[in-house]
Amino acid sequence: MSTNQTMKVGILGFGGLGQAATKVLAPKQEMDWVAAADLKGYAYCETGLEPQKAIATYHQQGSIGYLEPHGTLSNHSIKNLLETAQVDGYFLALPNLPNTFMADVARQFIASGWKGVLVDALKRTSAVEQLLQIRRELETAGITYMTGCGATPGLLTAAAAVAAQSYHEIHQVKITFGVGIANWEAYRATIREDIAHLPGFNVDKAKAMSDAEVEAFLDQTNGILTLENMEHADDIMLELAGICSRDQVTVGGVVDTRNPKKPLSTNVQITGRTFEGKISTHTFTLGDETSMAANVCGPAFGYLKAGFSLHRRGIHGLFTAAEIMPHFVR
Ligand code: NAD
Repeated sequence: MSTNQTMKVGILGFGGLGQAATKVLAPKQEMDWVAAADLKGYAYCETGLEPQKAIATYHQQGSIGYLEPHGTLSNHSIKNLLETAQVDGYFLALPNLPNTFMADVARQFIASGWKGVLVDALKRTSAVEQLLQIRRELETAGITYMTGCGATPGLLTAAAAVAAQSYHEIHQVKITFGVGIANWEAYRATIREDIAHLPGFNVDKAKAMSDAEVEAFLDQTNGILTLENMEHADDIMLELAGICSRDQVTVGGVVDTRNPKKPLSTNVQITGRTFEGKISTHTFTLGDETSMAANVCGPAFGYLKAGFSLHRRGIHGLFTAAEIMPHFVR
């Protein structure tokens, strides 16, 4: 691990969130962005990469592997980057398509002998369950893995965990999100994974859709996705944290893929009974001006920093956004 002041950070996946993550990191003093990988290549510079140049290369040529002079083209970009780079922690901004992909990437880290901190913004309950199955292996490998650390799950789950403290008994946690993005191509995996939640779809079906098919589908819905009773890991995370059972947690929302304005204000409502017998609801609402990227990447790095603090103390294994406080990255 580098000095306490500067953590060397890598980003796996260089799409919408991966690129936004580099901009979030740019003004930070405590974290240096040194590595990234996408499907076709990777880039590494131990003294730091430049976001603008990297993003321009990705848009013009389709892979960060073309970045001069630090990029390398590869069909095994994660494996090759792991063999090459000195990185303290990675943000996994990868698509979880298929639904087993993130757990496979975690196994790849374990097999490589790498030690450090990983953070993801995984969404599905079943994906977090797969990581739970390898928590001992992560611990033995010396990896501190922070899962479910985006917006939802992530920021809103953590807010629910804090809000729950007013109550003796939790009755319901209701998460409602509004996302507005100017065009779906900026966040292909996010939109495919959201489509997978709609009636008549599943993860494999959404993964198999071509870009033209996604486009045609969005034409039918005017670019709007309305999602209800989603399989979202906020439920298992709050259950693991001992706050409520997973069937008391509901997640739904509206995504507008043609307008950066949020179609509704993202919020979490936590209903419970106090020790005096009063039933009440706390509501935590995100500012409408904050983007999905800000609400995912900010918390992800906050949890990465918290993960570094655990790792330095020899605490390894799997942790969720509902059981650890994020640290603020300066
Ligand atoms: P995207 O489609 O814009 O980009 C994905 C990137 O991953 C691309 O650069 C692609 O080249 C790369 N990639 C794909 N397969 C790869 C492989 N095998 N090896 C290396 N790189 C590979 O994705 P996005 O829209 O930024 O979403 C990323 C993830 O973030 C999704 O899983 C999404 O569900 C999740 N997300 C979570 C939250 C949350 O609040 N928890 C919110 C939004 C998105």
